Formats: sequence, structure tokens, C-alpha cells
Amino acid sequence: MDVTPILGNLNDAQREAVTAPSMPVLVLAGAGSGKTRVLTHRIAWLVGVEDVSYHSILAVTFTNKAAAEMRGRIESLLETPASSMWVGTFHGLAHRLLRRHWQEAGLPQSFQILDADDQLRVIRRLIREMELDESRWVPKDVRGFINRNKDDGLRPADLEGEDDPTQRQYVHLYDVYQRHCDANGLVDFAELLLRAYELWRDNEDLLNHYRQRFRYVLVDEFQDTNVIQYRWLRLLAGRGGQPFVVGDDDQSIYRWRGARIEHLHHYQKDFPDTKLVRLEQNYRSTASILGAANALIANNTSRLGKNLWTDGEDGEAIRIYAGFNERDEAQFVIGKIRDWSEQGNARQEAAILYRSNAQSRVFEEALINAAIPYRVYGGLRFFERAEIKDALAYLRLLVNRDDDNSFERVVNQPTRGIGARTMELLREYAQANTTSLWKSAGALIENGIRGRAGKSLFEFMRMIEEMDHQTRDLELFERVDIVINRSGLVAHYGKDPGEKGQARVENLEELVSAARGFMPDEQLELPPLDAFLAHAALESGDDQGDPWDDCVQLMTLHSAKGLEFPLVFLTGMEDGLFPHRLSTGDSKALEEERRLCYVGITRAMSQLYLTYAEQRRLHGMDSYGMPSRFISELPQELVEEVRPRVQVSRPVYRPRRGLPEAESPAGMRLGQRVRHGKFGDGVVLNYEGEGAHARLQVNFEQAGTKWLVMAYANLEVL
Ligand code: ATP
Ligand code: MG
Repeated sequence: MDVTPILGNLNDAQREAVTAPSMPVLVLAGAGSGKTRVLTHRIAWLVGVEDVSYHSILAVTFTNKAAAEMRGRIESLLETPASSMWVGTFHGLAHRLLRRHWQEAGLPQSFQILDADDQLRVIRRLIREMELDESRWVPKDVRGFINRNKDDGLRPADLEGEDDPTQRQYVHLYDVYQRHCDANGLVDFAELLLRAYELWRDNEDLLNHYRQRFRYVLVDEFQDTNVIQYRWLRLLAGRGGQPFVVGDDDQSIYRWRGARIEHLHHYQKDFPDTKLVRLEQNYRSTASILGAANALIANNTSRLGKNLWTDGEDGEAIRIYAGFNERDEAQFVIGKIRDWSEQGNARQEAAILYRSNAQSRVFEEALINAAIPYRVYGGLRFFERAEIKDALAYLRLLVNRDDDNSFERVVNQPTRGIGARTMELLREYAQANTTSLWKSAGALIENGIRGRAGKSLFEFMRMIEEMDHQTRDLELFERVDIVINRSGLVAHYGKDPGEKGQARVENLEELVSAARGFMPDEQLELPPLDAFLAHAALESGDDQGDPWDDCVQLMTLHSAKGLEFPLVFLTGMEDGLFPHRLSTGDSKALEEERRLCYVGITRAMSQLYLTYAEQRRLHGMDSYGMPSRFISELPQELVEEVRPRVQVSRPVYRPRRGLPEAESPAGMRLGQRVRHGKFGDGVVLNYEGEGAHARLQVNFEQAGTKWLVMAYANLEVL
């Protein structure tokens, strides 16, 4: 076989990793140095040269999209279909295993996946049923507790013996929650992993079978594996196993989800005689971008230390833009994207990155107004939108009437006169008889529950039965179409005034298209609707919009990991937003934020913009942020300020925590509320100059933004 396609485009170190003999391999290297490429070519090498069967390979990627790309890439390297190869995310692979071995895993065949939001609903309901105070036992905190422990492989029984009563109660809630899930065939995300681990741990034959089968295990983004994922890998590899893993300690950004950088160290101990390969040449970014990334990450103390260089061009300076507010910031970004696309570039080469999901909305609106197609990855995910979740709940009821979550969600959505009191009755009955809400509804109707509620319940149940029977033999998309209409959802959301309602109806219609284009994973051997529902829960949003549309890409920094784009905007670069305010007091957390910024910068191939807003409205609150400290950590010679609209000179680099008090005019600080004789009340946004020349920029509630000379303004400090 001609090995040129496999080895031709690799440097020496990459080639060394790709062609390594049978042994554990750890490729430890910085961003853009070809780790993912090495992993992909390693698989091609194994199959093409070492005659390994696709069947024996298990590859773990960070997203489903990355999995599809990897498969495609290998197929084109080898020119043979790779469909029998297991490649996917940890969650996706665990799901596949549980579907295959549901009995051994102690699950009903039609178990349902709870996404984060579903999980919260279940927890909230249980807390209410237990008559606990929700402000004391905050559902989100309980969810955090449960997931953290699952990520660490701990069951309630492992947590017994707590002295602290609060902790004991948390453990109790975890226990109650888990029993509820087990009784109802519900599996949350963390449970997928833990169950899959326990499945192997407790079934020796099964484990041996898979050990025999998956002799070649490869993992991308290894630095972000959590405890249970790592244990799962070790179990599969067994003694003498030889996983091939690639990672970068500087890109570990999921500590909050249980990821442990330490696994990079453990790996070398757990698999003695590991071959360690370092890659140092970056092929992705210009020298300016790489220089900025290297300088930034050098501020972190706990690093394994790497040297990353490029022989590419210097490229353009990194541009910094200070928007007046978040809308101005968005306008700027969109202007640049327009220029980019007018120069003949594809829109999909441009990515807008932000720290948290809520920041996407302003960009989405601006893009809609500018009629620029875009796609949001993750975040306000298509499958997480309320109307979509409603539709999915109806579909789930078709599959499983006893799905209480779905029942609760839609029994009165759209409203059909089933109120809180009826629900209360149903819940009580269900609890007393340990049965589902659906069965309770049936029982209550038989026992003659009266009035409108009884009639509505009956109508609801009949509708579900009818929809199920009448659509059973139809194509998946036809079923979805009928369900969104007959359930009344389309009419209901269509009544919302204006564009919002329109958008929701469009989303529902989009669900029909999603069903039409849906290709079930053949390995799962599930009926189409079941497969579709599992897909919706697992992939949330991976492929909204038409994949062929040339769309600007919007995503959180977290979901940008592993990707690359010629043009990148890192937006919302304000202290408090990024680094996130919760992290600024804690040096470990701050280092993780810095790694996240490193991930963001290293996504850029040729152009990088960092933008921030001087005033920002987020979650309905105004804030006046200082530029992110990360901006001041970049080498001055590599950055350039753009400020095309406001003609004032102003230093870009403010000291880390704003101007020292002495330098600010007369004790004014940013965000200070002031009153002016003529303009009324406002907030200080900016200042420049000193002494008699000091000027202040104030945003007045009525009069808008003004620059005022301090000496004449007669401002009253409020
Ligand atoms: P990240 O840390 O962001 O996941 P990575 O280390 O996985 O990055 P890749 O995505 O594999 O890096 O590679 C980065 C870019 O460099 C890709 O466009 C890849 O095709 C290119 N590349 C990698 N190795 C080479 C090489 N030897 N010659 C030319 N281009 C290369
Ligand atoms: Mg990669």
C-alpha cells in the first residue's frame, strides 16, 4: 500500500506518533500542532498498513461533529468505508453500549435520556413532593451535587456516613432522585457514563468481549476527561492496554464538569513505558496570533510547559475594539464580517465566540437585521427551545405513556383546562399507588373525576392514543408533522404576537425538517422515533440550520475547542464577564479562564479581533466593565486598537483593576452615578485627561451620552 497519503503531510514528530509500534502513546502538544491530525492518521495507519480491522477501533472525539469529520477524513485517506468503526463522544459511545446491553445495565429497553433541563425538572418536582424548602434545597445545586458525584463515579451508597446534616440531605436527595430515574427508565447525561462504566465493571464476560474487540482505543482532547471517563478507558484497556491519547494541558477547560488535568500525569503512571511525543510546530495561526496566545498562557503557573512556534507569516496585528455598548460591539463585528464576505470569503470561515450563551442573542438579532445567515452551536440549542421540547414531549408520550416528565410538560400545553389542582390529584394518586401520571389519570377518570378537568384529561389521553395509532406506520417526519399540528402546538405558538410567535412556529416546522433529514445510527437498531428522540437529547443543536448554507458560526468558547476559523471574534472581553466574575477571586479558576481564552485565541488562523463593550446590558442588568485583564496580558507590539467611530484618544491598556483612585478625576469612578443640573441622572462611562482638562463621559438616562468638562459640569455624586 502507498503510505504517501498517510505520512506525506506530517512532520517528523507527527510521523513518529502515527507509526509508533504497539505501545501506549501520549501526544502532549499545544494548540494547532496537529494532534487531531495525528490521531486521524494513526487510525488510517493502523487500518491501511498494520491491517487492523475497523471493527477493533474505538475512537473518542469531543463532539459528534468531530466524529463525523474524523470518519470522513479516514475514509478519504483509505478510500474504504469506515462505518463499522466506533467513533463518537464518550456520551455517544456510552449510550450505544447501554442500548445494546440494556438488560445487563438494568434498564428498560426504551429508556429515555434526560437532558440538563429535564433533569432539573425532575429534581424540582421531587423536592416539592418531599415538601422541602426550594430556597434551601435549590434544584440547580442539587443537580450539581448529583452530577459531580456521578462524574466522580460515586453512588449515594458511597457517600454514606456523612456527619454534616446538609450533606446528608444532599445524599438523600441524590438517592431519591436516582430511585425515581431507575423506576421510570430515565438516564441523565452523567448517568450514561457511570452506567456504561458499571456495565463493564460488573459483567466480566461483557468486558472481556469488548476488550478483545477494541484493541485500539484512541482519545482526542484527553486533558478534559473526567474521573469516570478515565476509569472507563482504563477498564477497557485492561492491564497491558495501549491507548493512544492526545491532549494539551493548556486547553483543559472543563474542570467545572469534573475534568481532571491530572489524568495526563496518571496516564503515564497507569500505562508504564508510555511513549511521549511532543509536537511543537503550530500550523494553524499566524505568528502574531500564536505569539499572543503564548504570551497569555505564560501567565499561568501550573503548566507542563510547552514550546510552540510557527514558520508561517507574521500576519496582521490582533485588533481590539471597544464598543460603546453591546449593540455597538455587535454592529462592529457584523460590519467586519460583511467586509470579509464582500472580499469573496465564505461566511462560515468567520466565528463569533463568547463566554456564555446569553451573549449570543444580541449577535443573533444583529445578524437577522443584517440578513446574514448564521448558526448557533450549542447554547440556545435548537432542541432545547421551549416549543421544541413541547413537541418532543408529545413524541415521547407516543413512545412511552408512562414518561411522567413529558406528561407534566404537555398535559396542559396548550392550555386545556387541566389546572394545578388536578395535577396535584394526579401526583398524589401516582405517589400513593407508585404508578405513572398517565395511569393515574386513567384511574381517576374511571373513578369519575368530574367537571371540565376530567373531560379535558380524557380528551388529552384520547388524542395521544389516536396520534399514536394513526401515525404509527407513517414516515418519521410525517409523524412529527402530525403531532405538532394535532397537539395544538402550532396554533398555540402561532398566536404569540409578532416575530416571536412566527419564529416558534418556524422552529416547530424545522423539527419536521430535522426528522426528514434524520439518519439513525444503524448500530443502535432502534425504531426511527426512538432513535430520533435519543438523538435530540444527545446532540442538542449540533446541526441546526441547513449544513449547506454558508453561515457565520456562533458558539461559546467551550464549544469552539478543537475547531479553527480564518476569522475569529472573541467578544465580551470584559472583566467580570471574561474572566467570569465567579472566578476572579480563585487563582485556580482564573487559570482555567485563561486557558479558555487561550483556546479562543488559538482558534484563529489569520485574523483575530477582541472586542468589549463599555456598557453592557445582560440578563436585564446594566454593567460597566473594564476591559478584560487578558487583553492587557497580550504583548503590546502584537495588538492594535480600532476605534473608527468615536474620535477620542484613550489608552487601551488600563492597569488591571482600573485606574488608581488618584488618577481618576475627583474621585469619579466608572459606573459612578451622578446628577447634572440640566441633563439629570446618569452614569460615568469613561474619562480622560487630568486636572482642569479632565473630561468625563456620562450616560444620562434621559439625555443620552455626553462628554463633559469636569471643571464646569458641576456634577453631584449620588
Ligand atoms: P487543537 O489543540 O486546537 O485541537 P490540534 O493540535 O488538534 O489543535 P489540528 O487541528 O490537528 O491541531 O491541526 C491544526 C491545523 O494544522 C489543521 O488545519 C491541520 O490540517 C494543520 N496541520 C497539522 N499538521 C500539519 C502538517 N504537518 N502540515 C501542514 N498542516 C498541518
Ligand atoms: Mg484537536
